[in-house]
Amino acid sequence: MKDFQFHRPSSVAEAVALLKARPDAKLLSGGQSLIPVLKLDLAEPSDLISLAGIGELRDIRVDGDRIVIGALVTHDAVHRSPEVQQHIPALATLAGTIGDAQVRNRGTLGGSVAHADPAADYPAALLALGATIATDRRKIAADDFFTGLFETALERDEVVVAVHFPIPKRAAYAKFSHRASKYALVGVMVVDTGHNVRVAVTGAGPKVFRHANIEGILERDFAVDALAAASTPPDELNGDLEASAEYRAHLITVMARRAVQACL
Ligand SMILES: Cc1cc2nc3c(=O)[nH]c(=O)nc-3n(C[C@H](O)[C@H](O)[C@H](O)COP(=O)(O)OP(=O)(O)OC[C@H]3O[C@@H](n4cnc5c(N)ncnc54)[C@H](O)[C@@H]3O)c2cc1C
Repeated sequence: MKDFQFHRPSSVAEAVALLKARPDAKLLSGGQSLIPVLKLDLAEPSDLISLAGIGELRDIRVDGDRIVIGALVTHDAVHRSPEVQQHIPALATLAGTIGDAQVRNRGTLGGSVAHADPAADYPAALLALGATIATDRRKIAADDFFTGLFETALERDEVVVAVHFPIPKRAAYAKFSHRASKYALVGVMVVDTGHNVRVAVTGAGPKVFRHANIEGILERDFAVDALAAASTPPDELNGDLEASAEYRAHLITVMARRAVQACL
């Protein structure tokens, strides 16, 4: 790990000003993804700007028909939140499946969303729930946010401050985890918004994606057996030592069936 300057701003505006003044600086939230990257010398930031001193980023609140969760809220806090458990229990369940206790106690929603790991869990929830990512300067629909492998619509000096989750009629998340890390080999979030069905898949491709075929089937018939007709071409899916592309394609239907069953 190379030397860096450490900063602990007390406001989002101060963090943004630091980022603007230092082109090679990086934000630090829970450090559960960034610190391993630094240890492997895969990034050499000149400065680390810790968000830990910005209390306003730790709020969870219900705002009409949505839950707003601050960027610095840990996975464990989402998992245990009475508001999340009451209004979007699938999101509380999902947060409880991330990594292990240490990762859940340090890792944050904002860090996970900004990192955009293709096997991370939250991106599937954001996409399927039709969430909105609030930054220091704008709001970005989840549909426009995850642009590629570890790539998002964020500008270099932009800070995620919160995520707005619409409260669905019903939703569930099912994942087939990597045995050690618990990252998703395949994770499927199924959401019935009350107006339409949205299905997002993580872990299977280079980035999280919506599954139009399964959405169409469930729009017509929200039932486990209807998914006998589901299919996913393996051509653009990941294949590795853990699972071939064909196996991941199979797992998508299996996880979708489990998620629908959990909704009923
Ligand atoms: C052993 C292990 C197992 C894991 N298992 C899982 C798993 O099963 N599922 C899963 O989803 N994840 C898993 N993770 C990843 C974990 O969820 C991380 O917490 C998450 O990916 C990053 O959050 P963080 O707060 O630690 O971010 P950090 O590591 O601090 O930052 C990550 C990146 O986001 C940027 N960033 C941080 N905060 C912001 C912000 N507010 N605005 C803009 N940019 C920001 C940083 O500059 C950095 O580039 C695992 C990690 C480990 C180490």
